[in-house]
Amino acid sequence: MEGPVMRTSTLLQERERHVPRGLGAAHPIVVARAQGAEIWDVDGNVFIDFVGGIGVMNVGHAHPRVVRAIQAQLERLTHISIQVACYEPYIRLAERLNAIAPVPGPAKTLLLSTGAEAVENAVKIARAATGRSTVVAFGLGFHGRTLLGMSLTGKVHPYRDGFGPFAPDVYHARFPYAYRGVDTRAALDSLEHLFTTEADPERVAAVIIEPVLGEGGFVPAPPDFLQALRELTSRHGILLIADEIQSGFGRTGRMFAVEHAGIEPDMITSAKSLAGGMPLSAVTGRADIMDGPAPGGLGGTYAGNPLACAAALAVLDVFQDEGLLQRAEAIGQRLTGFFTDLQGRDPRIGDVRGLGAMVGVELVTDATDRAPDGELAARVVAAARRRGLLLLTAGSSGQVIRVLVPLIIPEELLDRALAILSEAFTEALGQPADGLMTAANPKA
Ligand code: PMP
Repeated sequence: MEGPVMRTSTLLQERERHVPRGLGAAHPIVVARAQGAEIWDVDGNVFIDFVGGIGVMNVGHAHPRVVRAIQAQLERLTHISIQVACYEPYIRLAERLNAIAPVPGPAKTLLLSTGAEAVENAVKIARAATGRSTVVAFGLGFHGRTLLGMSLTGKVHPYRDGFGPFAPDVYHARFPYAYRGVDTRAALDSLEHLFTTEADPERVAAVIIEPVLGEGGFVPAPPDFLQALRELTSRHGILLIADEIQSGFGRTGRMFAVEHAGIEPDMITSAKSLAGGMPLSAVTGRADIMDGPAPGGLGGTYAGNPLACAAALAVLDVFQDEGLLQRAEAIGQRLTGFFTDLQGRDPRIGDVRGLGAMVGVELVTDATDRAPDGELAARVVAAARRRGLLLLTAGSSGQVIRVLVPLIIPEELLDRALAILSEAFTEALGQPADGLMTAANPKA
């Protein structure tokens, strides 16, 4: 019998009963629907979305062109498996990704379903193409929750502890994180040290790096570091993999974040905003490398699902027709200006950083010690949610507030969100609201 809509607390209790606790939950809400940059819960509350399903909704929830593309594909073909027979949306999407991905020479694309699967396959391809086995990743990097994904991930809690032993022949160098004392030189030294002490560079198949740390705290790798990394890897015949699963698909104002540094990795992994909410990931790389594995060595029953491919083709059209790369730049400037302003008022707002609309703010107990303040970040998140804005944290102790707002957010909604954010910071920092922006006066 159909009853009235079950409300949040009942459903959350049922979640607890039926679903393992290992799945985190950033917000105690139950979502009924979402549109653009707004989310409605089952009790009719509305929230402005600064999370975008963890960076998946750059074109916004239920973008009409993405919805129409999925509907049209739904009528024609939902699944056949690319290993059984081909279908045009897969080919067209590969063609378009090959055209835009900044890899040297002709490119090829393999489609999969999840980010972790893209990372796994990039490493498989690198090993097959080079005949080498070692892989180097970076501390604080995140590459997924599969065995190899978490072996590459450079953060113990909650991603690695209790889940070992890990995949062998994986090493970590230090990520360049200037605010935490690791500049370009120190990061390069740590890589060189690794090459001398543990990982013979002639045995290294690939180095994998997020051009902007996502889960690790929204830290952009400096362009001179990425350029030096490109040079160093090329010198040793090592393949460079850019994990653009979070930094890609227009988030930073370029389709791929590596474009800011002017480098060309050998392979790029994408996922998240690639298909506007449909599960799809990709490995795009140099054609000669991508052809390393023999036929049958790559694949997956659902990999490159037709509905997801149709959605991704629509996402690419939306980016072009709605000028979303320029919009990402503009949103980024607004956010950076807003946070920098806030930083001038309280030393606990330790660092404001980002690329384009991939902006984060790192919170610390005080400006001298710079001890990460995850509790303060959690208070900001809770205060914002009470006022109708959903946020997400990142960083080693959850001390970074990261913004992954859909790029289609109208200016007026962005004004409201920033006014809420201002109030949330005021409450969490325990400051008087005088002179700060308020929801009622967003331009103050
Ligand atoms: N790499 C990066 C950079 C990511 O941000 C993520 C997801 N947060 C992944 C890999 C893993 O993607 P998925 O959760 O789809 O497996």
